[in-house]
Amino acid sequence: MELLSIVIPCYNEQETLDDFYKEIRKVRNSLASIGCCLEVIFIDDGSRDKTLDKMKQLAKENSWIKYLSFTKNFGKEAAIYAGLRHGSGNFVGLMDVDLQDPPSLIPKMLEILKSGEYDCVATRRVNRKGEPAMRSFFARAFYKLMKRVSDVEIVDGARDFRLMSRPYVDSVLSLKEYNRFSKGLFSWVGYKTKWLEYENVERARGETKWSFFKLLLYSIDGIVAFSTAPVRFASCLGLLFCGLAFVFLFVIFFRALIFGDPVAGWPSLVCVILLLSGTQLFCLGLLGEYLSKTYMEVKKRPIYLCRETNLDDTESIINERTSSVKKGEINENKKL
Ligand code: UDP
Ligand code: MG
Repeated sequence: MELLSIVIPCYNEQETLDDFYKEIRKVRNSLASIGCCLEVIFIDDGSRDKTLDKMKQLAKENSWIKYLSFTKNFGKEAAIYAGLRHGSGNFVGLMDVDLQDPPSLIPKMLEILKSGEYDCVATRRVNRKGEPAMRSFFARAFYKLMKRVSDVEIVDGARDFRLMSRPYVDSVLSLKEYNRFSKGLFSWVGYKTKWLEYENVERARGETKWSFFKLLLYSIDGIVAFSTAPVRFASCLGLLFCGLAFVFLFVIFFRALIFGDPVAGWPSLVCVILLLSGTQLFCLGLLGEYLSKTYMEVKKRPIYLCRETNLDDTESIINERTSSVKKGEINENKKL
C-alpha cells in the first residue's frame, strides 16, 4: 500500500486544528478506498496556546497522526523543513492548517502525481479575494520584481500547498541552507510541476500569523536568497555617479575658466552630499543583507530544535536516509 505523508506547520492554531482534523479524516477515508494510506505530521512551531495539547490528543486517538514540537518559534520555513525530513511516504504533501488549502483537492492531486508524468503537483490561487488591497499590491509587486531579478521562477499566487514525489522531496532536503525560502527552493530543484488553480479561500478561524512587516522581511529574504541583482544594482549606481561626477567636473572647470566663479553654491553642494551619502548608505545596507545571510549560514546553527515528538519509528527511517545530514541538526527527546 502506498503512503502519503502530509506535513502541516502550525503556530498558535488551537482554533483551527479540530476543523482541519474533520476534513483530513474524510480525505483519509476516500484515499483508503483507492489503496493509499495517509499519515499526518503536525509540526508545532513553538505555539504558546493549546496547539500542542490538541495535537497530542489527536495523536493519542489516531495512530496515523504524528506530531513534532519545536523548542520555540523557528518560523514556517523551519517547520516545512522538519516536516519534509520526517515524511517517509512515497508521496509527501504540504499544506496549511487553516483550511485555506482545500483538503478536498488532495485525491485529484495524488491521481496526477501517481500517473508518473509529474514530480510535483502545486497550487496557486487565481485571485486574492478577502485580502487587504495593500497586501495584494505589494505581493504582486514582489512577484514581478522576483521575475526580473532572479533565475528561479516564482509563480504569482503560488501557495505552499503541494504534493511531491519521493525524489523531489529528497532533492529539496538536499538543500541544507539555513535561510530557507521554500517557494524558491521548490522551483530551484527543477523536475516537472503541474499547477492547479483555485479561488482564494479565507481562513476558517483564527488570524493570519504574517504581519505586513513580517511579509516584507520574508520577501527581502527571498530576493537575497535567489538573486544577486541588488548588489549588481549597487555597483551600477556607483558607476553612474562616478560618470556624473566627471561630467560635472568638466562643466565646472570650463565654466570657471570662461566665466569665472561668481557663486559659491553651497545649497547645491549640500544636496549632492546628501544624495551621495544616502546612496552610499543604501548600497552598504544591500551589501550588509548578503553579509548577514552569509554570517548566519557559516554559523551552521540547526534549522530547528525539537522538544517533543511521537515520530520515533519514522525518525529511524529518516536517519538511514539522511545520515550524512544528521549531525547536530536535531535534538529529539521522545517523551511519548
Ligand atoms: N505558521 C507557522 N509558523 C509561523 C507562522 C505560521 O508554522 O511562524 C503556519 C500557520 O500555523 C499556518 C501556516 O503556517 O498553518 C500559514 O500561516 P497563515 O495562515 O498565518 O499565513 P497566510 O495564509 O495568512 O499567508
Ligand atoms: Mg492562512
